[in-house]
Amino acid sequence: MLYAQVVLPLAQPMYTFSLEESMAVEVGDAVVVQFGSFRYYTGIVWSISEAKPDLKRIKPILRKLYSTPLVSPELQQLWEWVADYYMCSVGEVMRIAMPSLAKPKADSLAEFDERTIEAPAESYIALKEELRSEEALLAYHESHRRAPRRIETMDRIAALAIERKAEDGFVPRRLVDAETVHIADLRRRGLVVEERRLVDAVSSANDFLLPILSEAQSRALDAIHAAHADDKVALLHGVTGSGKTEIYIHLIAETLAQGRDVLMLVPEIVITSQLIERLERIFEGRTTTYHSRLTQQRRGQTYLRLASSSGGELVVGVRSSIFLPLKNLGLVVVDEEHDTGYKQTDPSPRYNARDAAVVLARFMDASVVLGSATPSLESYANALSGKYGYAPLMERWGDGMLPEVVISDSLRALKRGERKTHFNLDLLQNIERSLAGGEQVMLFQNRRGYSPYMQCTTCGYSPRCPHCNVTLTQHRANRMECHYCGYTEERSAVCPNCQTQDMRSMGFGTEKVEEEVQRMFPDAVVDRLDGDTSTSESAFRRIVQRFEEGKTNILVGTQIITKGFDFGGVTTVGILNADNLVMQPNFRSSERAFQLMMQVAGRAGRRNDRGRVIIQTTQPQHPVIRSVAVGDYMAMASRELAERKEFGYPPYSRIVRFMLRHKDYSLLHRASHFFGDILRRKFGTRLMGPVSSAREMIRGEHCSELMLKIENGASFKRARQLIAEARDAMVEHEEYKRVTLIIDVDAL
Ligand code: ADP
Ligand code: ZN
Repeated sequence: MLYAQVVLPLAQPMYTFSLEESMAVEVGDAVVVQFGSFRYYTGIVWSISEAKPDLKRIKPILRKLYSTPLVSPELQQLWEWVADYYMCSVGEVMRIAMPSLAKPKADSLAEFDERTIEAPAESYIALKEELRSEEALLAYHESHRRAPRRIETMDRIAALAIERKAEDGFVPRRLVDAETVHIADLRRRGLVVEERRLVDAVSSANDFLLPILSEAQSRALDAIHAAHADDKVALLHGVTGSGKTEIYIHLIAETLAQGRDVLMLVPEIVITSQLIERLERIFEGRTTTYHSRLTQQRRGQTYLRLASSSGGELVVGVRSSIFLPLKNLGLVVVDEEHDTGYKQTDPSPRYNARDAAVVLARFMDASVVLGSATPSLESYANALSGKYGYAPLMERWGDGMLPEVVISDSLRALKRGERKTHFNLDLLQNIERSLAGGEQVMLFQNRRGYSPYMQCTTCGYSPRCPHCNVTLTQHRANRMECHYCGYTEERSAVCPNCQTQDMRSMGFGTEKVEEEVQRMFPDAVVDRLDGDTSTSESAFRRIVQRFEEGKTNILVGTQIITKGFDFGGVTTVGILNADNLVMQPNFRSSERAFQLMMQVAGRAGRRNDRGRVIIQTTQPQHPVIRSVAVGDYMAMASRELAERKEFGYPPYSRIVRFMLRHKDYSLLHRASHFFGDILRRKFGTRLMGPVSSAREMIRGEHCSELMLKIENGASFKRARQLIAEARDAMVEHEEYKRVTLIIDVDAL
């Protein structure tokens, strides 16, 4: 009898089950076990040992589920790393790492059978064994000259097998260009044998038709190669429209030609259909997409298929694709690596797929390219320090010119009477010009709802926290609060900066913009793309398609319009209120604001015409806005890095955010201070908070927050141990164990 440690998709430790040797179960296999009184779960065998553990009752493993292991040793390493780093159980990692159909659970064993899916299989054919050498086939030709069609089909099968380097001679039936009757005839004659096999994505040879790179692109590709030769992650810093995708395509082709797999991460698959189409055109039949909008069936089958693939796979997917069972990973591409969508906020594990992908690549000995027009400061700092290789690409491809950026001063416009509702004259004139020329307009406003902050309408001043350097958020009852450290001050009607009585709460959303622009341009077709209008993929696609086809003249939207689109007809892009981008109560607001505005600006003038970007702001001198105007990433980065250093924020530290929740405010308050006191004893001034507010509730619960900054150079592993001890103290506490405690490592 053997004993196996099994991971179950629960927030529980691993459990030991007994294992009959005859079941031929290996580490990484999916197995069925009974857990709890009436539940049957799929678990993953984590380790096997002969030593009988000292336990009273050991339940048996009931059966093995698939013929191949679903979790390779490298993926085991990844799951363990994620669990350790992001402070959760391996079972919680399993919950999100495998699609639910690949790990069914049921109330009875019989029900279990119905829920198990098969990896998709298809027909493979080969010439009979005696004919699999060239000489044998030629000899057959000689003796059967009167059956040319038969010979032609046999030649095709042989050629395809050579092309695909199929050592056993088997090729997918669907790829053999021959009619069913001919194949059936060959089979009847015993010349061809057939087998059902799992579907392999590889369907063509490795002679991909690659785009020819410009000189600048070739230099960037060389820099990436140099980084990889040095075993370094490469940061591809390429402005919008520079053709980063073309560079990825070259790297992907090299990797596939070696028979290795490629994982390409993208922020949100729904907005990258253009990208998928481009990849499909080049890597025909190889591209597998993986995202949450696929059916459960499809995701389950993809997982199983990849687990038994023979390599050479190209997977394009969202963050959870890092957990797909690619056995021979050679390259990871993280496109738009700065995108915050790579970080999972809920539920646990709160992992960052970009960071986890870099770790995975290390386990798999694969190369990594992080690509962005506006790299995260973390990645950029790594490039500056030489930890990452740096591949800059600062010009648009072809004759593409970067758009002209105009800063439009909203306060001045207001004073001069050159502002109608939320539009400055500058912007209105540009919209008019574009519409008159039959061109398109995109208007960006980063919120749908009403989410105010305070600002002086005379001088543009916004109150900030003296300790944390973030804007104070306005709360009811005239209180201004720092969402980081809890500092509060009275809301004053008088501006502390210029002493006038013009402090106002600010904010308006996309819906309002849509309404106003429609009123001013009654003949234009206006559409809106935001969280409210794109609740389904089809609604989203409809809006995008209408715009692509030129049926829509003006598209109003949130963040969603900033990513990945390659529309040719846009000549005016308006950012309606840059202030609420640079005024977010978050130490990353400058970086975010810059990234967002650059992305939005990148939508303008992508083909022939040089586009115009109008940024409306009350702070035309704001350093971030000035950097956007001149497209100077480096200026923004060095200023921002200096500030981060001064206040000890990432990349000079790591941040762990704690959220506590309970419906009883008094209990929450006491528990937060209990938890905070333990942490403060261990971490001193590195801890900020707790901050809680009796008024604000999320889903009927009060919340409280703490934040920990662990400076670089201090052991983060040790810090996590100390945090785990504090968590244990909460879990073991008679009263406080009822409070929900969320730990978010590297919180954004
Ligand atoms: P990025 O992702 O860097 O913003 P894209 O990869 O979308 O830029 O490229 C912008 C446009 O330029 C696309 O339409 C792309 O097809 C085209 N392009 C870029 N490089 C090349 C090339 N080497 N050959 C042909 N077309 C290219
Ligand atoms: Zn503060």
